Amino acid sequence: MNRRAADPHHHTVAGPLADRRRASDLAAVENADLCSGCVTCCTYITVEVDAPRAAWEYDQWIWALYHRGVSLYVERPERWFVHFGTVCEHLNQAGRCDIHGRHPVLCRDYDPRSCERRRPLADVVAWFDRGDELEAWLARQRPAHYQRLLAYRRQTPAGPPVADALADRKALDQGLIGISEPAADTIPDTREPGSPSDRARARRGAEERT
Ligand code: SF4
Ligand code: SF4
Repeated sequence: MNRRAADPHHHTVAGPLADRRRASDLAAVENADLCSGCVTCCTYITVEVDAPRAAWEYDQWIWALYHRGVSLYVERPERWFVHFGTVCEHLNQAGRCDIHGRHPVLCRDYDPRSCERRRPLADVVAWFDRGDELEAWLARQRPAHYQRLLAYRRQTPAGPPVADALADRKALDQGLIGISEPAADTIPDTREPGSPSDRARARRGAEERT
């Protein structure tokens, strides 16, 4: 990585601060006061991703959104971010950072004077918590892309039949399904060549040569 990644927190509306100090120059007591009762920025991460255009990209993001705790949002001018709702393991029961003083630099640089508690989020034009929300947005906002996604799905077989584990288990118990051993010539031979004594001699030879 040869450049610093975008701040992995929600971005807020930019604007000058009357106090010109850097966030990391604030005293611990100032930080504690500013963050009192709030833990928001320790409960998620965001990662900027390429703006999707191709059908397979939309397909993947819809799949990602089927997972709990995964969201996607779009800022204007167009930038896409994936958002994982996940609490930092160093946030203790009292709502404090249990590694304060050696916590990551990005946490120290996140400024409680201009964070999302105090300023509105930067221009977020769309937010998706679920795959069907992204799909509905696509149909509404990018109908040509949506048609490409539908065509992509139509071109791809629906997949193998879904296994019925319970029925298969019963059939197996009743001896209705036979599990055959694979033919010997289909099993790859991963053994070293030669007898054990050949291999020992070869190893000794290699050791003597080094
Ligand atoms: S920096 Fe802002 S969002 Fe994070 S805990 Fe402090 S007040 Fe809350
Ligand atoms: S390391 Fe500390 S400050 Fe940083 S996210 Fe975790 S709990 Fe919050």
